[in-house]
Amino acid sequence: MKKRVMIIGGGYAGVSLLHKLKNEIGIELILVDKSQTHLLQTHLHKYISGYYSKDDITFNHEKYCKENSIEFICEEISNINYKDNYVISRENILYHYDYLIIATGSVSMFPSQIENVIEYTKDIKKIDNLDFYRNKFQKILDSHDTNRSVLVVGGGVSGLQIACEIAYTIKSKGLNKDNIQVTLIEGMDTILPGMDSFLIEKSIQRCAELDIKVINNLFASKILEDSVILSNGDEISYDMLLFVIGAIGNNIISHDENIQENPRNQLIVDDYYKVKPYDNVFAIGDIVQAIDSNTNDFQAPTAQASRMQAELTAKNILKDINGDTLISNNISNKGILIDLGGPNCAIGRVLNINLSGKIALWLKKLIYSLHTKKFN
Ligand SMILES: Cc1cc2nc3c(=O)[nH]c(=O)nc-3n(C[C@H](O)[C@H](O)[C@H](O)COP(=O)(O)OP(=O)(O)OC[C@H]3O[C@@H](n4cnc5c(N)ncnc54)[C@H](O)[C@@H]3O)c2cc1C
Repeated sequence: MKKRVMIIGGGYAGVSLLHKLKNEIGIELILVDKSQTHLLQTHLHKYISGYYSKDDITFNHEKYCKENSIEFICEEISNINYKDNYVISRENILYHYDYLIIATGSVSMFPSQIENVIEYTKDIKKIDNLDFYRNKFQKILDSHDTNRSVLVVGGGVSGLQIACEIAYTIKSKGLNKDNIQVTLIEGMDTILPGMDSFLIEKSIQRCAELDIKVINNLFASKILEDSVILSNGDEISYDMLLFVIGAIGNNIISHDENIQENPRNQLIVDDYYKVKPYDNVFAIGDIVQAIDSNTNDFQAPTAQASRMQAELTAKNILKDINGDTLISNNISNKGILIDLGGPNCAIGRVLNINLSGKIALWLKKLIYSLHTKKFN
């Protein structure tokens, strides 16, 4: 009897796991995703700017699954019965599993302390919202007015990449900051807070080159229809506002009193990425609170971590089925690559080596093509 291995969520983690297990003969693979497409979040800034097309950042689940003899169910899972091994969809359909892998990712964080944040902001992790921002940016570009403003709140990797890509696009169209000012607001005293000084310095330089106005040490405290009030009372107007201050686990389907979660809605897993006390349930990707095996700190929720967790989990599912000893968590962060706008500018720190220019860019492109190759 084949084991029914069900993956909820075809993001970076889920797809990487499918890819590792798709040729295993003792397994019947099922992917459940509420979306028809895999969204490449790592490159969404290039979609907002208009540089990438939808085909560059979305990949059809149905097609991938058909080509690899995987069952695809396009449904949102709203509950899990862990004791009896089935999931329940929003349409109230029950699907049975032998092994379940929760890979539902994360959603953008919109703290309720920031007045009106839900009303005037959108989660960039949803393709419809990306279309909204892409169209809005295109209209701003086409208007050729002066004094337009794009505001990016959150100066971590995602916010920085978006701000740089947008500012680069403005420059490449022959416009300048008098036409459209890009402003990046970061509550800490630097962009890329907590990161290596090399990455911070290079990013600050790049923001200056691209005329991005960086505001540090101030928080957005209230959002209005066309302006943001900062924590010191200053008001900044905007024509387009992107809110990228972090993410929380997309943990809508696992509220079970026996399962441990952290305050960021992430599932706490054991050393094998199992969701205890359920021995046949694993969780991988942004939805888990995982530990870096080198530093013992929490792993950052990244595509890189998702892929490595998927590879380990694929091996462990096979071992579990065969009754072999599982491999414990051996995942550690290999580094980071950051796109600083346009086709030619990236920086990184990989295996403790600082990278910039062509090598960083080449590595970034390599990672993109290794991942997207799965769909070709
Ligand atoms: C702007 C931006 C830039 C980034 N840049 C980088 C980078 O340069 N390098 C890097 O390593 N990481 C980067 N990341 C982080 C990286 O994209 C995430 O860590 C990664 O996508 C997480 O993968 P995942 O599979 O856990 O979740 P996701 O990719 O979010 O996928 C989750 C999937 O689950 C599905 N789903 C959710 N709930 C349900 C449900 N109830 N029922 C059915 N389906 C469901 C969703 O539709 C989705 O397809 C970036 C993120 C952003 C937003």
